[in-house]
Amino acid sequence: MNILVINCGSSSLKYQLIDSETEEVLAKGLCERIGIAGSMLTHQPAGQDKIKTEAAMPNHTVAVQMVIQSLTDEKVGVIKSLDEIGAVGHRIVHGGEKFSEATILTDEVIKEIEECNDLAPLHNPANLIGINSCREIMPNVPMVGVFDTAFHQTMPRKAYLYGIPYEYYKKYKIRRYGFHGTSHEFVSRRAAEILGKDVKDLKTIVCHLGNGASVSAVQGGKSVDTSMGLTPLEGLIMGTRSGDLDPAIVNFIAEKEKISVAEVINILNKKSGVLGLSDGFSSDFRDLAEASASGNDQATAALEAYAYRVAKYIGAYAAAMNGVDVIVFTAGAGENNAEVRKLIGEYIGFVGTNIDPEKNKIRGEEVILSGKDAKVVTMIIPTNEELAIARQTVMLVK
Ligand code: AMP
Repeated sequence: MNILVINCGSSSLKYQLIDSETEEVLAKGLCERIGIAGSMLTHQPAGQDKIKTEAAMPNHTVAVQMVIQSLTDEKVGVIKSLDEIGAVGHRIVHGGEKFSEATILTDEVIKEIEECNDLAPLHNPANLIGINSCREIMPNVPMVGVFDTAFHQTMPRKAYLYGIPYEYYKKYKIRRYGFHGTSHEFVSRRAAEILGKDVKDLKTIVCHLGNGASVSAVQGGKSVDTSMGLTPLEGLIMGTRSGDLDPAIVNFIAEKEKISVAEVINILNKKSGVLGLSDGFSSDFRDLAEASASGNDQATAALEAYAYRVAKYIGAYAAAMNGVDVIVFTAGAGENNAEVRKLIGEYIGFVGTNIDPEKNKIRGEEVILSGKDAKVVTMIIPTNEELAIARQTVMLVK
């Protein structure tokens, strides 16, 4: 069965068509600047060059139409008709406390997702627009929602409650939810597979180090803690997000700069992290590693603070689980950036890791990084959120 995986943002839509039997990506692509002048579709059939088409996409329904057109096109298409799409899997950012696993999208479920909108006002409405556009164009194709928050719903109360008046949890559901759940689940299971162990017997720390970044503690296959919180702003220092800080800073900056709290939050989301720390130099770890190597001290400061924060979370989660068997690096920087892994590795030897500097040079593939006598396994496992969404979609529609 072919599964169309959709990841819909407010002005973008990423897609992959995956053959669920072979798990091959038949085609993938991206619609950009939906609803804005200069919108563009980039479509790439497997093994072929990208095809870029500039065309007006006033809304997401038109974007989905263009995606279907490309997928079924005589020249660049990979299927003959819509009938060859067995189901659509949608990435949904926030499922609140309602969704602890992937779910078939019925009218009722969609209403419940809408009720989570105020927990992720930038993401969930966009995800819903994608869902509604797909339902309009493919009314007979089953749709499944896969939530970024779902895997972390197993966190115990002590991990998800904040130290604020309990009434805010009761009234507004303010708590830690965590994100990147599809990736943390995929990677922690894959680690067990590679090691030939039952996931139930492992304590795993997953470091998902992309532009957005989070760490999770996975005990016996279940998430018991994770660094992102009510929103994806908490936790690690990220590409452009601040991660943890003293909450009083928000008001302090607002008063000093004479800006609103909303504007400060925007700065914490978009102008902070390693971008802010490097004094606006770059949010990209390739740029930072290069600049640091050629003497840019501000880039070095950003990388040091970044790695230090990851290491502190690893220490915390080793304590949370009373031990750790495996530490996995995944996502853009985790998979590819040897410098970042080296810096983190310098702190975590005390738990029993020993990252081999030669193996650490490997990029973007499954590899065990541990050297001789390591008591805790360190590894790289490339994440594949689209494949994980396709797998969960098939399980529900079969
Ligand atoms: P993601 O959000 O998972 O796509 O990750 C994006 C981050 O991964 C960016 O900060 C990139 O700098 C980093 N990244 C991607 N490829 C590489 C690479 N080859 N070397 C170093 N960092 C990389």
